Amino acid sequence: DEIANLRVAIRIRPMNSSELATTGVEDVVRIKNNELIICAPKNGHGVLTDHIFQYDHIFWSVDEKDTLYTSQEDVFLTIGVPLLNSAFRGFNACLFAYGQTGSGKSYSMMGRYIELFKRVSEIDKDCVVNVEVSYFEIYNEKIHDLLANPSHNSAKVPLKVREHPVLGPYIVDLTTHSVTSYEELRSFLLLGNKNRATAATVMNDFSSRSHSIFCIELGQCKGLDDTDNSRRSKVSLVDLAGSERLSSSFNNEERMKQALSDQRKGQFVPYRDSVLTWLLRESLGGNSLTSMLATISPASTHLDETLATLRYACQARSIVNRARINESPHD
Ligand code: ADP
Ligand code: MG
Repeated sequence: DEIANLRVAIRIRPMNSSELATTGVEDVVRIKNNELIICAPKNGHGVLTDHIFQYDHIFWSVDEKDTLYTSQEDVFLTIGVPLLNSAFRGFNACLFAYGQTGSGKSYSMMGRYIELFKRVSEIDKDCVVNVEVSYFEIYNEKIHDLLANPSHNSAKVPLKVREHPVLGPYIVDLTTHSVTSYEELRSFLLLGNKNRATAATVMNDFSSRSHSIFCIELGQCKGLDDTDNSRRSKVSLVDLAGSERLSSSFNNEERMKQALSDQRKGQFVPYRDSVLTWLLRESLGGNSLTSMLATISPASTHLDETLATLRYACQARSIVNRARINESPHD
């Protein structure tokens, strides 16, 4: 077994035009000696003293001219590639994007999956690699397929979750799509995003209230009938609902309890008693490498929400995961 802490990274996006246009707005985030500092704003709103936080990675994406600047590609190399590597070694891997609506979760998740296909082509020639993607969304505890043919029923009705005795929870009738190139994978991702955006315009604020999960499943097999060496693993990219959705109905302490860890089981619980947590059980429990990317705005106007995100991310970082390789015993 391998033991690893849940890895936590923070990304700070640039101020947007409406933040820049706000009178008295201050940039309250600093990075010093690999620590993230939230400065007390001069106008005295919110915190009165500086707050210092430590994480595994801090991605400063505020100003391209800054030497510290972290690009989209840097983020993917640091966070995405290790997840793919562990999937190739037979572990499930999971990346959560957590943060206030508008802080950069979706933007950061659109990384470069090309690395995956480079790896696929590098693999031993007698090893059959099969890559399948699926993409779904959870809104009000109901699951919707983002890649289903719109004329099919499965695109319209919520899908059900069942429990497989060996493989654990799964979604009935969720479409999966075999891909053989980076372009193909990307086209499915974009199609799902488009379907998500359509729902967003029909229902105001839909995407801030829903979780979306993009899954890349890898099947590796040494020779067609040598099943002893077969491995299956899954990378789940989870774009969580806006974190402010938690704070509106809970105070900070309750929010922590709601959205945190079961320390004894060493398990990360993004939202307690939710379909999401249940579905991702196999990717969150003992058998997965999990990372979290928490995104924040640098603006003083979002200070309370930013501090809540940073504290949540600190708590998540203390969780220990135990990962085992998914060797299929015989089937
Ligand atoms: P969320 O998914 O958290 O609601 P988005 O990812 O949609 O937020 O980002 C909100 C806006 O900010 C988008 O217009 C996006 O392009 C922009 N943005 C987010 N992160 C960055 C970044 N690191 N650099 C530049 N623009 C960003
Ligand atoms: Mg989003």
